[in-house]
Amino acid sequence: MKYLTEFRNREIAQRLAQEIHALATRPWKILEVCGGQTHSIIKNGIDQMLPEGIEMVHGPGCPVCVTPLELIDKALAIAARLEVIFCSFGDMLRVPGTAGDLFQVKGGGGDVRVVYSPLDAVELAVKNPERQVVFFGVGFETTAPANAMSVRIARQRGLKNFSLLVSQALVPPAIEAILKSSANRVQGVLAAGHVCSVMGYWQYPPLAEKYKVPIVVTGFEPLDLLEGIRRVVAQLEAGRHEAENAYSRVVSFEGNREAQKLLAEVFEVTDRAWRGIGVIPRSGWRLRAAYREFDAEDRFQIAGVRTVESPLCRSGDVLRGAIKPAHCAAFGKECTPRHPLGATMVSSEGACAAYFNYGRFLSAKALAGAASTLSGLGPSGAADD
Ligand code: SF4
Repeated sequence: MKYLTEFRNREIAQRLAQEIHALATRPWKILEVCGGQTHSIIKNGIDQMLPEGIEMVHGPGCPVCVTPLELIDKALAIAARLEVIFCSFGDMLRVPGTAGDLFQVKGGGGDVRVVYSPLDAVELAVKNPERQVVFFGVGFETTAPANAMSVRIARQRGLKNFSLLVSQALVPPAIEAILKSSANRVQGVLAAGHVCSVMGYWQYPPLAEKYKVPIVVTGFEPLDLLEGIRRVVAQLEAGRHEAENAYSRVVSFEGNREAQKLLAEVFEVTDRAWRGIGVIPRSGWRLRAAYREFDAEDRFQIAGVRTVESPLCRSGDVLRGAIKPAHCAAFGKECTPRHPLGATMVSSEGACAAYFNYGRFLSAKALAGAASTLSGLGPSGAADD
């Protein structure tokens, strides 16, 4: 397939890895923002091709993982209502709330449906005028245009039975929150290519300058990732800190202007809670007043939600890049993809699921040394063998 197999070429991958080995003279810590990048890195063993001192820090770029528990609990309450058809992408169905997940609501008789687009949910609303159709709009800037389009079409068609449960997160404020944290150990960043395909990367030069950190827009295939890492290492070794685009076949500096116009029409920026991390200022979108009638939280007014996270789960530390998933004591024991304790073990973009699915368990020796790794934020090249 064009634009896919040629970015998985083994010889070129080895050549890029050799170039990184030749460039790197000291340890560096590089954040890959997106969970899709994390999965590709772990699946393809890219972290194991790098010089020993180069550590990939897995970032919070998994929208399912960072959806606040309170919102999941609200989704469960809305989905359980008799008049509701609750629509979602499949990866939200097994994300644990305080007292179950959407699959369990479905098993208990709730009308929970997996759809492939929010526009499918709009069509369901047209075909079921006697029911309330709710779409769980979870995502970063990448999925936001389709969610925005769904409410715009619902308004054009005069639908009174469609609403959006909004969980839209913004990536650049999350990167900034990591870079400005007093515990930050990230020295270079791979920005998420698909987010930049919508938003461009005009937001990154000021961030790179302010925090003196190279930021390279990077794709998801093995060669994309190795090229992104190579460019970050080249900048770090040269003492540069610039925003660069290593994904130019998809991303332009200004991004998709039409999509950005639609987003600005439908959404406004708001403070947002990130599961496991806390509130990050101006890191989310909510519906503007002109579209607020389509806000499921407003429409259903679910009150009395009391959230309780699993005391075993350290997904907040995983999402901040403070620990690797295998350092969580519950990893692969109490917590597996079949019985997840946290969202990072469920989602196709969650770091815990990546480590579990691709067999990244700690060896007994590494486990014995894990205590020292876990004090503070861990040394370079944390033992995740
Ligand atoms: S392994 Fe499970 S319990 Fe541990 S941090 Fe990941 S999701 Fe949470």
